[in-house]
Amino acid sequence: MRKKLFSLKVRASLKGKHLSGAERIVEERELLSVVEELCRRVKRKNPDNITIKYTPVKEEDILYIEETLQIEDTVYTSLEEARKRAVDILHKETGIKMSRLEELLKIIDTGAAPDGSNMRGAMIVNENGERIEKDRFRGVRTTSVDFIEREKTLKILKSKGYTDRTLDALALTTKNLHYPDMIAEYCISDESNYITGYVSTKERYYRITPLKEKGKEKGGRIYFVKNSIDIEDFYNYLQNRPVLIKKVKGLS
Ligand code: AMP
Repeated sequence: MRKKLFSLKVRASLKGKHLSGAERIVEERELLSVVEELCRRVKRKNPDNITIKYTPVKEEDILYIEETLQIEDTVYTSLEEARKRAVDILHKETGIKMSRLEELLKIIDTGAAPDGSNMRGAMIVNENGERIEKDRFRGVRTTSVDFIEREKTLKILKSKGYTDRTLDALALTTKNLHYPDMIAEYCISDESNYITGYVSTKERYYRITPLKEKGKEKGGRIYFVKNSIDIEDFYNYLQNRPVLIKKVKGLS
């Protein structure tokens, strides 16, 4: 018999404001232990409310992706150098002017939601450099993505010096970039001490250190897309299409 799968989403908030979220695709037998693990993770930010949602995943809806983007890991001696590398890649991929890209990165640095806080999800930017997400507080959240063999994949990544974060970010961005009209992605964490960020393209996951200043709690993601994108279809793919990834490119 096939294993039953569930899409699991955990959200934490304080006084009605989103603090953090985590999501997985899990087998029925591991559901409770993963709920506990994710709750423990989101509790670090001291929420007053945690919402847990799980929905069955239908086998026929799953999109299987053979391998992730190729990881390229670079550590720079200065933030300026690292940022320049990120902007160079984004400029080459999207054609957006360097000055506009720098502006967009600054918007993330200072909080991309209208009240200057972090957005819950990602900002979406087209080839003209315009923000086109439907809601500037929420942005769009990519959910329902995981590795088929999560534990095995994590072990492999850890043996190469990577972390749980790399696993989750790599899965998320691989799902994103699989969408034909998505061109690139930029990400810095909202955790103050986590200064590694990334830029992804159709081929590569450029893990870059440092992409933010230590001690800053502002972070976010930008999804760069084609002007011709069907935004409803894009939201539907990111939020609803279950995706399972077979392996990390180049590692086994
Ligand atoms: P994190 O990598 O979890 O530190 O998240 C960094 C930022 O990316 C957050 O502040 C959100 O703005 C955004 N973000 C987090 N999770 C998602 C997601 N699942 N989909 C889209 N954007 C996200």
